[in-house]
Amino acid sequence: MKPVAFDYERPHTIEGAVGILSGNSDAKILAGGQTLGPMLNLRLVQPTLIVDVTRIPDLTRIEEEEDAVTLGACITHAAIEDSRFADPSNGFLAEVARGIAYRAVRTRGTIGGSLAHADPAADWLSCLLAVGAEVLLTGPRGKRRVALKEFVRGALDTELAPDEVLDGVRIPRFSRKARAGFAKICRKSGEFADAIGAVVHDSDRGVLQLVAGATRGQPILINGEAEGLGASFPPPLEPVREKLKQSGLVGDAYELNIHMAAIKRAIANAQA
Ligand SMILES: Cc1cc2nc3c(=O)[nH]c(=O)nc-3n(C[C@H](O)[C@H](O)[C@H](O)COP(=O)(O)OP(=O)(O)OC[C@H]3O[C@@H](n4cnc5c(N)ncnc54)[C@H](O)[C@@H]3O)c2cc1C
Repeated sequence: MKPVAFDYERPHTIEGAVGILSGNSDAKILAGGQTLGPMLNLRLVQPTLIVDVTRIPDLTRIEEEEDAVTLGACITHAAIEDSRFADPSNGFLAEVARGIAYRAVRTRGTIGGSLAHADPAADWLSCLLAVGAEVLLTGPRGKRRVALKEFVRGALDTELAPDEVLDGVRIPRFSRKARAGFAKICRKSGEFADAIGAVVHDSDRGVLQLVAGATRGQPILINGEAEGLGASFPPPLEPVREKLKQSGLVGDAYELNIHMAAIKRAIANAQA
């Protein structure tokens, strides 16, 4: 099958993209096209207008602050894999990027496109929740900065309004002592996962966050302090198992077990 006919615009500024989106309630943003392309071909989406944001220089910016780095939304998985900027996460982002699909997908797929799509099994969603990232959104009512945990409302469901552009991802800088681990369980390497575990422990910043991804809804974020997991690492696993059970987002005992296995592997990777 092929897409229905659509018009095509390629703005050169974020404001230009927002202007076009505001004037057309039936438009869709195109970034790497790795998700949108198949959806168009299968006619799962039938927009009348495609707004290609890949020629907006601001969307490939890298902004360094003392305590964070902001990556423009159109930075590709491959650019992160290749560490083409000073990595705020001591190599954690590059390691996660390397496990997404295969290189051809990574050269086109973007960090912003992945977060905007909010597939519960997407690697960035789980990784960046554990990291404590925020997303930057620009729309006709101005700019806003939203914690990723508030941005994602459910499977394929986010805070993003149809006339807003996700323009960047703000990633807190890890301390030197920080450790992080990621594990995905899938049948073939590089596939979308059946279960994802992600953990970040940074005692200097008082951070302990665990994530169970590829659940039946949004990834489950477990904040060590809020859940009383204590300050030591590795954290106790029984409260984590209880939290997953109570979430309503993990099905039967088999699913619970593979999610716990992913979390245990992530913790082991963080200790390696
Ligand atoms: C074969 C294959 C295997 C894959 N395997 C994995 C995997 O193992 N793990 C994984 O995490 N992902 C995987 N992916 C998905 C891939 O990572 C995509 O890059 C990602 O899902 C979407 O990013 P994109 O830039 O291609 O976005 P697009 O496909 O262009 O857009 C996706 C959606 O986000 C919206 N959007 C895009 N950018 C913005 C923006 N800046 N602001 C607002 N809305 C925006 C679009 O309108 C669309 O609805 C795979 C894809 C393929 C084709």
